[in-house]
Amino acid sequence: MENTNSNSEYVSCNIIEHGFDAQFDSINLCCRTSKENNTNEVVLIPNYNGEKIDWEKFFQNTDNLRDYQKKGKTIPQCKGCIYLEKKQWDDEHYINTININNWIKCNASCIYCDRKEYKHIKEYKLYPLIKSLIKNNYLRMPVDITIAGGEPTVTSDFDKTLKLFIKTNISPVRVLTNAIKYNKYIEIGLKKGLVNILVSTDSGTRATFKKIKLTDKHNQVWKNIAKYVKVQKANTLVKTKYIILPYINDNKEEINEFLIQNINAKVKTCYLDIEVGWFCSESTNKIFLERMYDLYSYALEKARDTELQVLPFDRMQLVINKINNNL
Ligand code: SF4
Ligand code: SF4
Repeated sequence: MENTNSNSEYVSCNIIEHGFDAQFDSINLCCRTSKENNTNEVVLIPNYNGEKIDWEKFFQNTDNLRDYQKKGKTIPQCKGCIYLEKKQWDDEHYINTININNWIKCNASCIYCDRKEYKHIKEYKLYPLIKSLIKNNYLRMPVDITIAGGEPTVTSDFDKTLKLFIKTNISPVRVLTNAIKYNKYIEIGLKKGLVNILVSTDSGTRATFKKIKLTDKHNQVWKNIAKYVKVQKANTLVKTKYIILPYINDNKEEINEFLIQNINAKVKTCYLDIEVGWFCSESTNKIFLERMYDLYSYALEKARDTELQVLPFDRMQLVINKINNNL
């Protein structure tokens, strides 16, 4: 499709322009759920199982999406997303935002996770895909790379892939790990300041951890978090997250325990988020929104006068926006 208005400003986001989301059986545009509806993702290459990618063909797809945005429309899957912004975008073909979401393997069984549905699928190798992007000069700094789950550290070529990013100085690479398994390449990346990690413990006590993750690894996880904190080059590289779930951890006592664990492990930044399905079903419910806002305000107040920074993650940010705009 021919590009239109290439020099004018239009509403888009960096992922529409330069995103790449490697899912377990397709290459998608984006995996973020920073929007009102939990709609289906935009699939760029369906039925993907590790085949060599024709990058020119790949970029034709993103050109089509750009053209759609240039016409003043919004891709249906992106409607209401907080990352949309109006500005002048370049028209070039490159990737600067990679998400890797190989849902197939994990060493936990979180009750809110859909991973169980995918574990029968054959895992493809990630390393050749990343190598091809680098070799063809389609990966451009500054980058935003996220290696997510399942659990990255138990996938077959995670070590090799992270080593490649570290060796080529491509950073920052964000790894979403559950920290059940300590990984020496994460440690190397943290020491060099090229890697950062986000660990969702969703709890502050052993009992709640077990209830959510269905594995009794609370102590091991916080021990590993503290170990990662000790080696990190800058004190913002190790972060944690608490996803609020209905009837399980949606209370101030558990949030307080989570804050204490963070302070003990010397973590400097933690996030609060809301479970995606719950948020989508309640996003217009005033009582729900005010309750979530109250939990967030409580965490902020509790962390005040400590070195721990509490920040809102995607859905919590949407709640704050709604409350600040009088719903
Ligand atoms: S869902 Fe949001 S972040 Fe993802 S591509 Fe659409 S606008 Fe961008
Ligand atoms: S650690 Fe992540 S991938 Fe594994 S079960 Fe929990 S949410 Fe799912």
